[in-house]
Amino acid sequence: MDFQLNEDQKIFKATLHKFVDEVIIPRAPDVDQDGIFPTENFKAMADLGLFGISIPQEHGGSGEGIMSCVLAMEELGRGCASTANTFGSHAILCTENICRNGNEAQKKKYLPGLIEGRKIGAIAITEPEAGSDALSMKTRAVRKGDRYILNGTKMFITNGPVCDVVLVYAKTNPDAGPKGISAFIVERGFKGFSSGKTLKKMGVKGSPTGELVFEDCEVPAENLVGEENGGIRVLMNGLDRERIVYSICPIGVAQGAFDVAFRYAQERIQFGLPIISFQMIQEMLAEMATEIHAARLMAYWAATTADQGGRVRLEASYAKLFCSQVGMRTVDKAVQILGGYGFISEFPVERMYRDMKGIEFGAGTTQIQKLIIAQELVRKGGA
Ligand SMILES: Cc1cc2nc3c(=O)[nH]c(=O)nc-3n(C[C@H](O)[C@H](O)[C@H](O)COP(=O)(O)OP(=O)(O)OC[C@H]3O[C@@H](n4cnc5c(N)ncnc54)[C@H](O)[C@@H]3O)c2cc1C
Repeated sequence: MDFQLNEDQKIFKATLHKFVDEVIIPRAPDVDQDGIFPTENFKAMADLGLFGISIPQEHGGSGEGIMSCVLAMEELGRGCASTANTFGSHAILCTENICRNGNEAQKKKYLPGLIEGRKIGAIAITEPEAGSDALSMKTRAVRKGDRYILNGTKMFITNGPVCDVVLVYAKTNPDAGPKGISAFIVERGFKGFSSGKTLKKMGVKGSPTGELVFEDCEVPAENLVGEENGGIRVLMNGLDRERIVYSICPIGVAQGAFDVAFRYAQERIQFGLPIISFQMIQEMLAEMATEIHAARLMAYWAATTADQGGRVRLEASYAKLFCSQVGMRTVDKAVQILGGYGFISEFPVERMYRDMKGIEFGAGTTQIQKLIIAQELVRKGGA
């Protein structure tokens, strides 16, 4: 097992660290308070080439592996969870998915705009009555001549209120269960496609979440991704990779919260001493740092294994589960260390505490990760 980053990865992480310190962190309070899409951050990420990191060079990206996506997500999460969430939906769930599963014509048409940040991407799976049980979706797609007609409503869609391009899953054969789902690329401007309600949220407020509505929405047949009724393959192909990238986001936020709490503990004087000299504060900081370290290694290990081409279903869910739990525990301790000031919006841990809950749901809830882990353990006959 080798957890060391190679030289290129170290340089990439250092570049991103500086970018996040100088560009993302100063804007994070406004992104949260304004609760609107972070356009400037989106443009800055595009200028840095972040939207093409996992896209092969022949399609306009830089062809890096999943480890680089993990490093990007971690650093962005450290600075601003809303921006990290925007990155994940746009670059990983939409752009990378189209690259992995789309045909040459679709890649040629959609990838340049998405990689250059001229278009905003999203993915639409969840529905009001189909969350964890995503395959029970009701959105219907019926072929009529050279197009499909989509009807239904998608729920909780990150970038939904602002997206230009969205990868939508719908039933083409409702009686065939998982084998009756298909994936489509839908563009803003297609007849019958609109954004519904924008949802007011507890956290990740700068990452707009909303409903998408399809009312006799006309989608050209050439926008079918993969085969008709082959949507489950599109959905599953790369799901473990996506899960690994999303697993590290809470650890980025946790690192940001630790940094704030550590500095604060050195500066805050009570009983004539910096509070960091009190052993109960030291205990919290020690636990935070240890858990962050362990969770980070778990995500890096999963990413490294994925980059080597191994099966990572178990590793991805281990990482997603543990990183989410560590993230929640860490922000809780960070607020505690800041005392009453941790509860005040002027201090960033208040935002991080709220954001952490929001990023726990992406790529499957904690309970769903436990189910996957148990299923994999049964399949393998043990741990
Ligand atoms: C901020 C945010 C952004 C999102 N972005 C997107 C997006 O871009 N695209 C998209 O398609 N979706 C998105 N989602 C939806 C997200 O994937 C779902 O919220 C998630 O899948 C859970 O579905 P649900 O909220 O309907 O909860 P439910 O599935 O109704 O679950 C409710 C509770 O029951 C638990 N539960 C469910 N099934 C089981 C079971 N079998 N065993 C034990 N416990 C169970 C869950 O863990 C949860 O605690 C987003 C959600 C949020 C909050």
